[in-house]
Amino acid sequence: MPICPNCNYEYVDGIMICPDCNTALAEADELNKFEELSEDDWVLVYTSFYEFDVDMLKGNLEGAGISASKLSQKDHNFPAPGDLSVVKLMVKKNDFQAALSFIQNLKQKESESGDDESE
Ligand SMILES: [Zn+2]
Repeated sequence: MPICPNCNYEYVDGIMICPDCNTALAEADELNKFEELSEDDWVLVYTSFYEFDVDMLKGNLEGAGISASKLSQKDHNFPAPGDLSVVKLMVKKNDFQAALSFIQNLKQKESESGDDESE
């Protein structure tokens, strides 16, 4: 079933171009795959030097219904210019605000309960 990536309309098989916006239609399956890895749809919400830190946040976010994706130097899906030792956590643009406050909350709790070192 072809889908217009622009209007999100489904069309019957055989139609190649969206009659509304003249965009080439994509197969629904392909579009889903593409969406998952499309760099445009993901934004950087958090970086860390520790992979377990990002893994934990990713798990927490996903538990809260926010899809998250980890990028590290082991991940060669994305070319990472610059600092290769940083692990990055990406979320969908739509979830960015929710993810950001979620992470801030989590980090705040961590630092409240965690260290009692006097500064
Ligand atoms: Zn269209």
